[in-house]
Amino acid sequence: MNKFSQELFSLFLESPKIDTHEHLLPPEQFAESPDILFAVLERSYLSWILSGTTGKSFDLTREELLSQLRNIPASSFYRYLIRAFQFMYEFRDDSLTWENWENLSRQIRENYEKGDMVKRWLSSRLNVQKIILDRYWVVGDFQVDRKIFSPVLRLDPFFFGYNRETRDHDGQSPYFYADREGIKVETFDEYLSLMDHIFQKGIKERVSALKFAIAYDRGLSFKQVTREKAEVAFYRAAGEETPEEIVNFQDFIFHYSFQKAEELGLPIQIHTGPGKAFQTAPSLLGPILEEYRAVKVSLFHGGFPWVGEPGAMALFYPHLYLDLVWLPLLSPTFSRLALREWLETTGGSRIMMGGDSWNVEGAVGSLLFNLETIAQVLGEMVETGYLSMADAQEIGKMILWDNPEEFFASSLE
Ligand SMILES: [Zn+2]
Repeated sequence: MNKFSQELFSLFLESPKIDTHEHLLPPEQFAESPDILFAVLERSYLSWILSGTTGKSFDLTREELLSQLRNIPASSFYRYLIRAFQFMYEFRDDSLTWENWENLSRQIRENYEKGDMVKRWLSSRLNVQKIILDRYWVVGDFQVDRKIFSPVLRLDPFFFGYNRETRDHDGQSPYFYADREGIKVETFDEYLSLMDHIFQKGIKERVSALKFAIAYDRGLSFKQVTREKAEVAFYRAAGEETPEEIVNFQDFIFHYSFQKAEELGLPIQIHTGPGKAFQTAPSLLGPILEEYRAVKVSLFHGGFPWVGEPGAMALFYPHLYLDLVWLPLLSPTFSRLALREWLETTGGSRIMMGGDSWNVEGAVGSLLFNLETIAQVLGEMVETGYLSMADAQEIGKMILWDNPEEFFASSLE
């Protein structure tokens, strides 16, 4: 990093931040594990590269894990964790080994025993003042600590309500919510009323946004479908739906959600990039952005590997926001490339960042990678004379605070 970038990085570390996206689990869940370091690694992106991008935990011994790590020293899914361990604990090495494991694990445990992990590291150390929390493992439950968290309404399960048995990629079903709330669903009308119910509950509970990660289950092309066509899958016996009927049902649900978002004034966060059969490029959402111009949409992950698309799209859709979240971990190089282009096309407005992690270590590593990306790109723009230092500082403040505040608007108050 050049001297401007270094100066900006120090400034950004201290600046107040809104973290647009996390999946933080209760810290006690890690503290309970006999090998806390192993538990932290297991709920990180490391497991995605070691056990095939499933997001599920890995079935490895410590020895096997260490031996596999020796094959992937340059993986950014590994580097961000090392960065976090160096930042949070007195970890001085560049890799995990049999020799340094116990010492690091002990330090992590002692830290968790002090309690308040989120407060001490994210609020105090990194000055994160608000975290948008996506608890995809409970449909329609918005119980979070409002001092720091703000919940989203995750809608993926509703794409699978054409029968009671099907689950989304996280094992969720809208009928878990219907059963919990005691809502009867027998007709397609009642199904849409169930959706209306969760939207109303979301509004009452002041959700920050709607959230779709449906790209893990299907491609991101959603056509307009009539209600008559959409309900065919719903009235079929479970398992008898044709693939075309399922797609019709899901396309309808996606448009229905956008209509509701418009009606209720809710912004939408959408996962783009890595996903089902890589039919998940941001540009597939072009027709949606044309149609729903009153709905603020945040495109996640820079659409990696299609990082050239979101910036160009933002130029033509003023209601489109761009979130760096997870991109610095997918590829630090692409995140710098993307950010540079986004800055040139949006001028610095509408860009945000987030951590996308299950534990504090992951969030710290991820946020540091985000801040380094922002500092590095802005610092280079200063060095070449494209931007003044004062403007670079101001843009950093916009990305960390003003832009997400504008996107989430009233829900953050
Ligand atoms: Zn996520």
